[in-house]
Amino acid sequence: SVKIKIEDVTKSFSVKRGKGTAHQVFSAVSNVNLEIKTGEFMVLVGPSGCGKSTLLDLLSGLTTPTNGLIKLDGKPITGPALDRGIVFQQYALFPWLTALGNVTFGLEEKGYNKKQQLDIAKEYIALVGLEGFEDRYPHELSGGMKQRIAIARSLAYNPEVLLMDEPFAALDAQTRETLQSELLRIWKKTGKTILFITHGIDEAVYLGQRVAVMTSRPGKIKEVIDIPLNAL
Ligand code: ADP
Ligand code: ADP
Repeated sequence: SVKIKIEDVTKSFSVKRGKGTAHQVFSAVSNVNLEIKTGEFMVLVGPSGCGKSTLLDLLSGLTTPTNGLIKLDGKPITGPALDRGIVFQQYALFPWLTALGNVTFGLEEKGYNKKQQLDIAKEYIALVGLEGFEDRYPHELSGGMKQRIAIARSLAYNPEVLLMDEPFAALDAQTRETLQSELLRIWKKTGKTILFITHGIDEAVYLGQRVAVMTSRPGKIKEVIDIPLNAL
């Protein structure tokens, strides 16, 4: 079934190029159509500045389209919600909370009691391979470990979709490779719908079950490539 449907979406900004010049309307993404199926690992790849983050902001509900519509399970997205977990390039962990505290954060408002919150958080910390690191603070963790915790935190909310904006770009090559294969393992285990953004074609082809290729000025989806082997 279709999880996310992007229907003819355009996002325009009014920009002023210099002092005394008139405002110009500039489209960061233009007439984008894309369907992401339930449980699919979709990668959005394109050069820097082609509109990938703008598209992700729209999907997360942080911004709204100038034209067009984005639907989640057939219903238009109206604003931010934890049913769309986001993982950014910079880990965005709360520095004053331990790994466990970071993953527990937000679970209370889902109605879980303290014991349930701890059980869920521990389960996801184990899923990302960091059992035993629950009491560490972010500054006591390596970059790769921080990003593992960020992934655990997103998954703990049990989101409908996981939106990932260049999550491994700031990591060294070896850690990045480790986390890429870990993410594939987690995807296969959880069956989550994932939209992963990258400017790296190698990473896109390694991870994606389908790869949407974007071009810039204005940001458009040029083609969607099937990589059936990656579904196995
Ligand atoms: P990418 O993630 O592919 O690098 P972005 O979505 O960040 O691309 O940006 C696409 C284009 O839209 C860029 O030219 C960027 O400068 C522009 N842009 C993004 N956000 C805004 C904004 N709030 N106002 C004006 N221009 C923006
Ligand atoms: P990964 O995050 O994929 O495990 P890293 O290169 O980030 O790989 O770290 C490798 C290992 O080194 C970690 O699993 C951890 O055991 C240890 N390590 C690295 N940095 C730290 C740190 N700041 N504090 C504690 N352990 C660390």
